[in-house]
Amino acid sequence: MLAATWTGKKSVTVVKVPVPRITDPHDVIIKVTATAICGSDLHLYHGVMPGMQKGDQLGHEFMGIVEEVGPAVKTLKRGDRVVEAFDIACGSCSFCSEKLFSECDTTNPSADMEQMYGDRIAAFHGYSHLTGGVSGGQSEYARCHHGDVNLLKVPDSLTDMQVVLLSDILPTAWHATEMGEVRKGDVVAIWGAGPVGILAAMCSRHRGAARIILIDTVPHRLDFALSKLPYLEVIDASKHDVYTRLRELVKEGPHVSIEAVGFHYTKSLVSKVEMMVGLQTDPPDMLNEMIVSTRKGGRISIVGAYAGFTNHFHIGAFMEKNLGMRGGQTPVQKYWHYLLSCIEKGELDPSQVITHTLPLSQAAEGYKMFDNKEEGCIKVVLLPHE
Ligand code: NAD
Ligand code: ZN
Repeated sequence: MLAATWTGKKSVTVVKVPVPRITDPHDVIIKVTATAICGSDLHLYHGVMPGMQKGDQLGHEFMGIVEEVGPAVKTLKRGDRVVEAFDIACGSCSFCSEKLFSECDTTNPSADMEQMYGDRIAAFHGYSHLTGGVSGGQSEYARCHHGDVNLLKVPDSLTDMQVVLLSDILPTAWHATEMGEVRKGDVVAIWGAGPVGILAAMCSRHRGAARIILIDTVPHRLDFALSKLPYLEVIDASKHDVYTRLRELVKEGPHVSIEAVGFHYTKSLVSKVEMMVGLQTDPPDMLNEMIVSTRKGGRISIVGAYAGFTNHFHIGAFMEKNLGMRGGQTPVQKYWHYLLSCIEKGELDPSQVITHTLPLSQAAEGYKMFDNKEEGCIKVVLLPHE
């Protein structure tokens, strides 16, 4: 079968690999019908996420049709249409029982992860050997672990484009609003008008936020967001000082600030050794901008991905202003039933951010246009069987 693989910095190659087989009784093999490229894949693409090896199969946002189920799988059968969660959970450890599936304690064997973070987070599909070295789903077929836990059945009445983002970024956007405790009447500011930031705006609106201000350094991304969500206010961070502009718009600052950007790429990163001794991403101007901009007593929610350390963190302002801050990989399985019901009722439509569908054979082109933030390109979905 064909699969997109990481072949070095800014290099993705579609190659032939063996079709995966069931190796554990809880496995499910699916025929992948749609698989998206994520902002998180760009961290791999840029070589800033440690633990990648040349030839690793990419892709953690995918869905398809069940081909085969292992003997221990109880809830699925051949022919079911399913979405896969990017975070692989066992469903039975203490973190899974708290619905913190992305922190599952049993699926990721990486000793490096434990050494760096003091703990192991869950294994992820297609996301480096730090998160288990599990094959990704930008491929014609995929092996899904603990099928009863990590696959969501979806109705035939919804299209692939309506549901494929339940695999990651719609739950991520929702998680951003959960961690930020977005409430009715709140003013919410969101850094990053990529797919995650735009969906976080949609989710904030769904929870009753009174005003939503979207911030990005790429003006045409803001134009795209406004064309889909006309209720937004926007700040072009390439032209304005964000703190000043935010305070012009909202005297006391936003109740909630959401970070949907992640790694900056202005320095050349990252060896494992650098990770161990204290990796610096770009000095966290943006995080500090969020800290000083947020309303006193407000909440900061970080879903943009980081690895390692960062210096010059404005702990003073953070402490003095009574702010709260949370961050995390989303526990997809905690939210996806509710979010599916919102899609079915027409209350949320994540397909609005999908601008491109390409055959899997054009994965390299898809990565390139998404990475370059080409005008008109927000979210790219690959179709392995077209
Ligand atoms: P993306 O790269 O398409 O979007 C990021 C946006 O941030 C871009 O539009 C970019 O122009 C903008 N940006 C860059 N610098 C900025 C600045 N200083 N101020 C404001 N905006 C700025 O990526 P995406 O797919 O939308 O993903 C966003 C982040 O979410 C990534 O870091 C990704 O890894 C992360 N993510 C996290 C989870 C999770 O579970 N926590 C899941 C999926 C994605
Ligand atoms: Zn993703």
